[in-house]
Amino acid sequence: MLCILLNRIRANHYNLAASRWRKDLTDSPMCECGLKEEDVNHVIWKCSRYVNERVDLIKKDIKEKIKEKNLVVVKMIAAFFKKIKRNLQKSKKEKKEETLRDGPPNQGGKRNGTVERPI
Ligand SMILES: [Zn+2]
Repeated sequence: MLCILLNRIRANHYNLAASRWRKDLTDSPMCECGLKEEDVNHVIWKCSRYVNERVDLIKKDIKEKIKEKNLVVVKMIAAFFKKIKRNLQKSKKEKKEETLRDGPPNQGGKRNGTVERPI
């Protein structure tokens, strides 16, 4: 769970409007607050919709803990997203939309390590 969250944030690939907009899954990258694109930085640090939920991150001094580069920060961010009821992973609807648009995932057997051989 934490690895998935961390990798999604690092890859800039998550279930927020900015990422969904890049994949043509939503009409706008903007946050519902109307101030900025809804990306991870905006949601964690700036969005006016999550002022109260952000208090825990500030109380626990997340900016100092980031310097330590350990999993405590990832756990804090995971708890924050759980608290605001936002899931950075794809919803079932999003997965279905991508499958309809791009075809089934893992075609070509790359995921299981097989390699397509030329005929
Ligand atoms: Zn916002």
